Amino acid sequence: AVRLESLTKTYGAVTVLRDIRVSFPKGSFTAVMGPSGSGKSTLLQCAAALDRPSSGRVIIDGTDVAGLNETRLTEFRRESTGFVFQAFNLLPSLTAEQNVALPVRLAGRRPDGRAVREALARVGLEAKARSRPSQLSGGQQQRVAVARALVTRPAVLFADEPTGALDLATGRELLDVLRKLVDDGLTTIVMVTHDPNVASYADRVLFLADGRLAGELTAPTSEAVAARMTGATC
Ligand code: ATP
Ligand code: MG
Repeated sequence: AVRLESLTKTYGAVTVLRDIRVSFPKGSFTAVMGPSGSGKSTLLQCAAALDRPSSGRVIIDGTDVAGLNETRLTEFRRESTGFVFQAFNLLPSLTAEQNVALPVRLAGRRPDGRAVREALARVGLEAKARSRPSQLSGGQQQRVAVARALVTRPAVLFADEPTGALDLATGRELLDVLRKLVDDGLTTIVMVTHDPNVASYADRVLFLADGRLAGELTAPTSEAVAARMTGATC
């Protein structure tokens, strides 16, 4: 589980996040929505301990990340969190399985071939283990990125517009994979999106406006999310 307590983030004189208080319980799938510039990516980066808040606390699985020095923070992030970006961010010179094994290597351990294959199987890509990113479709590359984020069995998986670079059908395949990870009890997901159809795969949608939490919807349908967006300041 992840808990944000009175989280604030400022850049110079500009306040980007204001007093965010929210929990992402273990096994939940949350979508974060809001207009461009409302602070979604900043929120995700702080929640994932990739960025430090200006004030307030981030507690991941009981650990207050502010209490960790840089070295411990890096280790903790590698073990306890996974992050998927819009642009896949795979290393082009490595095969799918080498990309997936990377977080384990970076943690100074020998990759366990079985764990790598299991992660690839979770995203339906066992057969592509030896392919390089250039030999994979965009959707397949993003699924490798998900496998890479999963290989350490993180408590939480963060995803910033993971379907943003994919077409509709390919995006749905990826979302089915993410949904199944949660349904099988493997992880907790916090995902940023601006698409109501994408948000409808989550159990709950949070709406950000001007750096504040401006409401939420549980058991969201894409229609309900879209209605909420036109009704709000989006
Ligand atoms: P989008 O939907 O366009 O991705 P977003 O909701 O993810 O937008 P953020 O990227 O979180 O928005 O940015 C929120 C605000 O913070 C923006 O006004 C942005 O310009 C500002 N901001 C983000 N990062 C920095 C930074 N490193 N330095 C200064 N300002 C920043
Ligand atoms: Mg963003």
